[in-house]
Amino acid sequence: MNQKAQYIFSVLTLMASAFGESSGENSDGVVPLDSPEIFKTQPFPDWLHAFTGLNAWPDENPPYIPLEFIDFENIVSDPRREFGTCPPDRSTCSFDCYKCISYDDAYTCPKLSQTFDDGPSPSTPKLLKALTHNTTFFTVGLNVVKYPEVYQQIQQKGHLLGLHTWSHKFLPSLSNEEIIAQFQWSIWAMNATGSHLPKWYRPPYGGIDNRVRSIARQFGMQAVLWDYDSFDWKLESVPPQRTESEIYSDVQKWRHKTWSPAGLILEHDGMPKTVNAGIEISKIIGPDQLTVAQCVGGIDYIRTF
Ligand SMILES: [Zn+2]
Repeated sequence: MNQKAQYIFSVLTLMASAFGESSGENSDGVVPLDSPEIFKTQPFPDWLHAFTGLNAWPDENPPYIPLEFIDFENIVSDPRREFGTCPPDRSTCSFDCYKCISYDDAYTCPKLSQTFDDGPSPSTPKLLKALTHNTTFFTVGLNVVKYPEVYQQIQQKGHLLGLHTWSHKFLPSLSNEEIIAQFQWSIWAMNATGSHLPKWYRPPYGGIDNRVRSIARQFGMQAVLWDYDSFDWKLESVPPQRTESEIYSDVQKWRHKTWSPAGLILEHDGMPKTVNAGIEISKIIGPDQLTVAQCVGGIDYIRTF
């Protein structure tokens, strides 16, 4: 497992352990606002039972459910590849290998703006309390149904919610059906929890090629990539591979790289240290930031209910 994959694993493990705790009360018997005790799993909706025949949210390998609007003839046939491997040339337009951008990818912003991946998590509420501007959260479906109240807090604060797949898989390694399942279950989780259909998705690890894009487009979604990677997840590795001051120094450089601060920064709200870094970065940049939809003058959601 590489460092990034290890970080994701530890996020999922931490969430699982927090979720299973029986008591989060303090000495006053009061459950703190950010206690796992307040987190209740999103109920599996009747409409989804009627459509899928299932009775519960799936595990990290969600089943493929056929959708009538998906046309397999319109899926590009780029070869599958494992995490950490690259195609021999740029023809598949991979972002993770070649930083390749397609015509409908959102990848930058006229104002330097933060974005947060991998939540919602027990650490997210602290970030929500500290932010003085709207931002964008790309959420993992498994976490959306595990922490629906945190998801709704993000929504109520006016932030933009995007999709980060159901279980954070490296999409180019999956079959077409498996990619569809990663999208459809994540969309259903967001619909059940936030009553909206996402317009924007960020592929885990930046793992994208024209095959992934051609599937996402059939859901009406567009990819969001980034200009600057904070590598904030390295704060959580043991021993830490990056310090807070290194990250903040990078942010200062990014602020002065263009005549006016511009670009999208990749961050995470899955763990305490990345959230603390996010709060500090927010102070460094200030509140003059945009959501991804505002960056490109696009809509927030395909539909809200
Ligand atoms: Zn991620």
